[in-house]
Amino acid sequence: MNISFLKILLACILFVNSTDDLYSFHTKTNEIAGVTIHHITNILSSKFNLQYVTTFQESKHGDYYIDRLTGKILGRDRATTNNLRVIDKREWDFVLKEKGGPRSRDGIKELHKNSFIIVFDENQIQKEIQLLGEDTALEGLEHQLYIVLDVNTGQVFAKREFSPNRIFKTRSIIEVYKIGKISAPRIAEGLMLLAEVHGHPRTINFYEINIETASEVDKEVARDLNINIFVVDAFDTKLDSNFPRAIHRVNNTGNLETWVGQTAGINSNNTFNFTDYLSNMLREDTYAL
Ligand SMILES: [Zn+2]
Repeated sequence: MNISFLKILLACILFVNSTDDLYSFHTKTNEIAGVTIHHITNILSSKFNLQYVTTFQESKHGDYYIDRLTGKILGRDRATTNNLRVIDKREWDFVLKEKGGPRSRDGIKELHKNSFIIVFDENQIQKEIQLLGEDTALEGLEHQLYIVLDVNTGQVFAKREFSPNRIFKTRSIIEVYKIGKISAPRIAEGLMLLAEVHGHPRTINFYEINIETASEVDKEVARDLNINIFVVDAFDTKLDSNFPRAIHRVNNTGNLETWVGQTAGINSNNTFNFTDYLSNMLREDTYAL
């Protein structure tokens, strides 16, 4: 496939605000640049239209299938298990057409053979987020990491960004690209971005405003990329790797919820469970079908 590589930088700089974020957007496409930019705008705005019906009583049986390209739910099988799986849509379509669908014995067998169970590495995610909070407090920089789904293995883990933005100091940059027109944002080959996590340090510059929870730009970016953004509150400059720090969340519609939990720290009773939250989010998409 002839794929040209285009980098679009969407930089939103608010001068009064020290803790706003920037993000840049790459896209792989074989279309010309102008058309592509226009199309991305359309795709991003169309994501607000998803309707979730959460009152539906969910059955405990059956695996859910997520499209490896878009991150959207394709459907559910009739297996006795209740896993979340990632699959190529072409395999899913093949089962629909040729194997009696996801509820048939043959269909289920084929689907299981050609998909990966999605497994969250909660311990690794917690460890990385704890370190991120500490580094943010220590350096006064917005350290960040990505929670990604490896669509080639099913593993979900944290990928630390080791070069915090030292030019804007307290702003983080999310670098993503898309494959074609409809893919979920990727940060690298096969790595679908589910959530971004960054620390908010306390600024010491008199001309900057401290924002503890999440900024307007955080909300805008979460909406545009259709991801969750978690903010680790690093206002408390206590440098202790066991110290539990508050977590605030902006969901993919840009809705801010403060104090959703804490980093793991030591003996923290309120540790935010990323596995529960993100796997429920992926499953909830089912009801949009
Ligand atoms: Zn922020």
